[in-house]
Amino acid sequence: MPASDLQRVWTAELLRLVGWLVLATLVGLAAGCTTLALLIALAIYLAGHLLYAFQLHRWLTADRVEPSDGVGVWRDIYTELHRLKQRNRRRKKRLKNIVSEFQASTAALPDGAVVLDRRGRINWFNDAAAAMLTLQARADRGQRIVNLIRHPRFSSFLAAGHGGDAELEIPSPANDQDTLLIRIVPYGNAQRLLIARDVSNRKRQEITRRDFVANASHELRTPLTVLRGYLEMMGEETDQSKALSAWQQPIAEMHIQSQRMGRIIDSLLRLAQVEGENLAQRQEYIDVPAMLEGQVEDLQNSGEASQEFVFDIDTSLALYGRYSEIESVVSNLVANAARYTPATGQIHVVWCQDDRGACLAVRDNGPGIASEHLHRLTERFYRVDKGRKASDGGTGLGLAIVKHCLEHHESELEVESKLGEGSAFICRFPRQRILSRRAA
Ligand code: ADP
Repeated sequence: MPASDLQRVWTAELLRLVGWLVLATLVGLAAGCTTLALLIALAIYLAGHLLYAFQLHRWLTADRVEPSDGVGVWRDIYTELHRLKQRNRRRKKRLKNIVSEFQASTAALPDGAVVLDRRGRINWFNDAAAAMLTLQARADRGQRIVNLIRHPRFSSFLAAGHGGDAELEIPSPANDQDTLLIRIVPYGNAQRLLIARDVSNRKRQEITRRDFVANASHELRTPLTVLRGYLEMMGEETDQSKALSAWQQPIAEMHIQSQRMGRIIDSLLRLAQVEGENLAQRQEYIDVPAMLEGQVEDLQNSGEASQEFVFDIDTSLALYGRYSEIESVVSNLVANAARYTPATGQIHVVWCQDDRGACLAVRDNGPGIASEHLHRLTERFYRVDKGRKASDGGTGLGLAIVKHCLEHHESELEVESKLGEGSAFICRFPRQRILSRRAA
């Protein structure tokens, strides 16, 4: 209501009151009892207001009872309230339409969507979520989601409170042959939207591709071993015979290349092995200090590392994990540092604990890596210097293996490097994987 109308209504009301009191005074003067007449007039005026106030109260509390039109200022108050109520009704209708449109569109989504409150209880879910996660409309609303999706990795994923880009793959509760990809998107007032996508087909294709690579690598191993054997024999013969000396160089080159093929095949097989979930593999106590020292010693004994090694190792610290995978991580990082650092360089091996968990770092003062390569290092076959010699032992698969092994331990690889200054490869293990080292 504009301010001028408000003023007009209340002025009229005041005039009405004054007129009413003047009338009462006149009647009182005529009857000789002015005070009584004024009191009666005020009581009637007050009773009228009380009646309208009562009607208003009744209307507000019991929605259905419409008040009568009212007089004076009350007429305007009622009209204003009617208008507000209608506006509210229209707004409610519009919101209802929006909600039903939202529900209809999310119901049509192929992805499952579940709205969770701040305590992880289910507020709402669409049909796809009901089918994928075997949720029941009546029984499961208000239930905590961790009681319904009973997978150990799911509860820690939900508790970790990721920012929306983290993903988790779990077997579908409806059929454990299927795989669901889960994302949690925070929104609003500590609420979360759980999105579940059926990625079974993609997963099956990945498994088929992995099996193919593993089978092909396995099949290539035997013919390659035969070729390598003959090349070795031929190499010896060309060394001894002058007539065959022209073949010495090509055969030596073929031998080097066949050795490289052997390393690639071995790495492909290892990668196929660790790319699989491999969750069935036993987890155990790992004496990391002993493993680090052993790996460096093997490398030095085989003549592949002549750099100076400096150890900074917390000997009270051990790890809980899959032994062969952690061994792959250590051997690849140490071998890389030895491969890329000049013989006069220094390699620093660190195993320690900080507030984030356990940390395994291999630092070198080798050539370093330009920053544009850093985010691609863990891609398969990615090599910074594509023109390196075949004999240097690299296959471009080492860091891809490291990354997968660490993922199986909820751990991450960080790479810090500066051209000309050296590189640091740092593995960060979560606190719950730390064990106390037993006395040897
Ligand atoms: P490779 O078998 O070629 O070493 P990796 O996957 O282990 O393959 O490493 C990928 C690439 O990262 C390497 O080709 C190399 O260019 C670079 N790299 C890895 N470790 C180091 C290091 N310590 N110093 C410099 N470059 C490195």
